[in-house]
Amino acid sequence: METAEIRRRWLDYFERNKHTVVPSAPLIYDDPNLLFVNAGMVPFKPYFLGQQTPPWDRATSVQKCVRTGDIEEVGKTSRHGTFFQMNGNFSFGDYFKEGAIRLAWGLITASVEDGGYALDPERIWPTVYTDDDEAFAIWHEQIGIPTERITRRDANDNYWHMGVPGPGGPCSELFYDRGPEYGADGGPAVDEDRFMEFWNLVFMQEVLSDVRSKADFDVTGPLPQRNIDTGMGLERMATLLQGKDNLYEIDEVYPVLAKAAQMTGKQYGAHSGHAATSSHPDDVHLRVVADHVRSSLMLIGDGVTPGNEGRGYVLRRMLRRAVRAMRLLGYRDTVLPQLLPVSLEKMKASYPELEADFGRISQIAYGEEDAFRRTLDQGTTILDTAVTKAKQSSAALGGSSTPTLRGSEAFALHDTYGFPIDLTLEMAAEQGVEVDREGFTRLMTEQRERAKADAKSKKSGHAHTEIWRELRALGATDWQAYQALSTEGKVVGLVADGHRVEGFEQGATGQVVLDRTTFYAESGGQIADEGVITTPSGQLRVLDVQRPVKGLVVHTVEVASGEVKVGEQVESQVDPDWRISACQAHSGTHVVHAALRQVLGPSALQSGSYNKPGYLRLDFAWSSALSAETRSEIEEVANLAVRQDLPVSSQYMTLPEAREWGALALFGETYDEQVRVIEIGGPWSRELCGGTHVAHSSQVGALTLTGESSVGSGVRRVEAFVGMDALRYLAKERAIVAELGRLVKAQPGELRERVEELLARVKTAEREIATLRQQQLQAQAGELLSGATSIGGVRVLTHDGGDLGADEARSLVTNLRDRLGDEAPSVVAVTGSAKGRPLVVVATNARARDRGIKAGDLVRIAAGVLGGGGGGKPDLAQGGGTDASAVGAALEAVESRLHTLTGVQ
Ligand code: ATP
Ligand code: MG
Repeated sequence: METAEIRRRWLDYFERNKHTVVPSAPLIYDDPNLLFVNAGMVPFKPYFLGQQTPPWDRATSVQKCVRTGDIEEVGKTSRHGTFFQMNGNFSFGDYFKEGAIRLAWGLITASVEDGGYALDPERIWPTVYTDDDEAFAIWHEQIGIPTERITRRDANDNYWHMGVPGPGGPCSELFYDRGPEYGADGGPAVDEDRFMEFWNLVFMQEVLSDVRSKADFDVTGPLPQRNIDTGMGLERMATLLQGKDNLYEIDEVYPVLAKAAQMTGKQYGAHSGHAATSSHPDDVHLRVVADHVRSSLMLIGDGVTPGNEGRGYVLRRMLRRAVRAMRLLGYRDTVLPQLLPVSLEKMKASYPELEADFGRISQIAYGEEDAFRRTLDQGTTILDTAVTKAKQSSAALGGSSTPTLRGSEAFALHDTYGFPIDLTLEMAAEQGVEVDREGFTRLMTEQRERAKADAKSKKSGHAHTEIWRELRALGATDWQAYQALSTEGKVVGLVADGHRVEGFEQGATGQVVLDRTTFYAESGGQIADEGVITTPSGQLRVLDVQRPVKGLVVHTVEVASGEVKVGEQVESQVDPDWRISACQAHSGTHVVHAALRQVLGPSALQSGSYNKPGYLRLDFAWSSALSAETRSEIEEVANLAVRQDLPVSSQYMTLPEAREWGALALFGETYDEQVRVIEIGGPWSRELCGGTHVAHSSQVGALTLTGESSVGSGVRRVEAFVGMDALRYLAKERAIVAELGRLVKAQPGELRERVEELLARVKTAEREIATLRQQQLQAQAGELLSGATSIGGVRVLTHDGGDLGADEARSLVTNLRDRLGDEAPSVVAVTGSAKGRPLVVVATNARARDRGIKAGDLVRIAAGVLGGGGGGKPDLAQGGGTDASAVGAALEAVESRLHTLTGVQ
């Protein structure tokens, strides 16, 4: 049965059983504690936590999930994908244990004709929580499962909670026995690969007060309203119903694997058994490729772009792991352009939006692969140098020890160049060099600890979450930011140093929650409003405004005078100048976005933005730099739209209506049922947006683009000044032009010509100087010849050329060598300097080379003394280092080496 069919049957079945079908939320959901949605219940959390009243008693969904914690499992077990789909059915105070168990049993055992999955009932092994006799009894007495197939498991496996005080409850998990070829007898407790978990039923029935770990928590009593949350792995069910060994072989995933196998010339499965434990490494690599390519497609589809932290890093890691796995399989060419479209072909049936968006998605993915390939190439060069050095120092020690790459070098490769350690190990091994793994691991641990400490200190800023939930429970803030600049309100809560307080006084800073406010809280790229809150006794200066939980506006303030107390009537007053500038900047952002899309095409979609009074920046999907002409065109389109005085309006509608309307939604944002659409000039610009805006485009004033740059592969950034700041910026540029004109004595209109002329003159002068120096060098060469000495019959000429550049040093060296002639062996070494760093060039003639004297060897020795490296051919070689004071010693080292080589001591 195809995955799409399993999914369809699921939704049909639960819809028939009175569940409302809820579409999947995007993988990025607004929950500060979650990198990605990792379970079907995530979008329903507010209902389970009692923060919101669910609009239905029963719901069902097929939710996109990503579990980053399972990344290392991929390919090694049979059942873990990084991206997967969780089918869920949910009851909010409606049916409970019996209902959930009966519904699950009904679907999995019903015949195919009756719309079910037709699993063999004899092979199903349920588990229950240690003391959940009620669930045990339902399985045994009502469903008829023999007791020996029902396993009791402790809280580590079968108790669910969110890791924080709140709801919790026992689980009952369903396992399917895939038969002895997959592992040992004995049920799920013995082998989780043979007995594969495919469905987890969670019975939320208790309130937990303190949660110390997965299995260590305090139960305070029963939950007033008992809920059901279940999750069935769609891929796992497909694995079972398609008779596959693992979830990488199902219809939605396998085609990518097959393509990768074909590309690498591998015969998938030829050397593996059925059980995951008997997998050949090549097959594991192929599964990693298939899984990661699909996950990357889904992640980019939901607005993630590769980066160095958080979500972006997860994506980057997956893309790199996929490319890397292909390399390990011997494939060195680009892989994603061949694999990503295969994954799209399979996924678009369930997610048609991927196809429409594939231009953007593939651009980002391919750009990241190209960048990684460059990293690999760069890292390889650096690795080779380090390997050579390691060999040299081992040789210097008489060659008795195995050459070893220092831990710090492996770490630098990893940390600076993103060069994975396993690659370093492998490539060093190929050259007979070991890696100091211990040193590497130590540095990695240190780094990880630094990162942890960092994250902790950042998190303490979020420590108030519980307080915000409490205050939110008192009611949502009546938020008047769109309607007015000032309003009366009451202080409902105050927080100082992370604790709720009754009041604070002049000089203190803290957080204020009002029942009503006009302050805009930072969101959607727009920064928070500035202004004051007037209390009966004084005034608070508003420093920041945030919405830490939905519906609650929190002002961070400094008490400028008097005090503030809970219960007081106050007046919130947004600074009107600030607000109008903020509106200009935000509307300006929409105008620039629309202009970008008008000029570049609809794929130039915004991926992030930031605006504050006078300034805006906008990141958008585009892979190449914009030319100066394109930039001015965008600027012109934007300013034309400003001048046309287009009406700016806002209206509320449902998300599907907004989509229908062509309103642009920002990736990664989650939206309420009712969304706000900002329109500028009708369909010209329609965006989902919660920001504040001007009423007519002309109020934006002026817009001037100041910069355009790359902020990651496939993403460009434009920046602009708006309103008065745009004029000030232009005035500043005009002043620069005037100043330059004065310096080079030209009118602004002639400036370009004049500068070109000056540059041409500089060039000619430089050429003349170079010729003169050449002549000087030739003359000098004659004098230098007399300084040649003889070492063991070899004529040797060394010379410290001072600040001689590399080109000059080379031409001097070859010139001297030629002049020394070919009668006797001769070697010339000259030092010089480039950009403050010492360099050395060595040349040999044919007779010297006949005696085994190689310029490359001599240069390496000299450059080593200079604290660097170098190389080249036997007749001419060049190197350099960092220690300019060692040039004399470097030349001496060349001579002393020649003594050794010629046998003269
Ligand atoms: P496991 O112990 O096998 O990792 P789990 O206990 O972590 O599973 P739950 O958190 O209970 O799984 O998730 C509910 C269901 O989601 C599981 O029964 C399984 O079918 C599916 N599931 C969980 N993790 C994955 C994954 N990484 N890939 C595919 N399906 C998964
Ligand atoms: Mg798991």
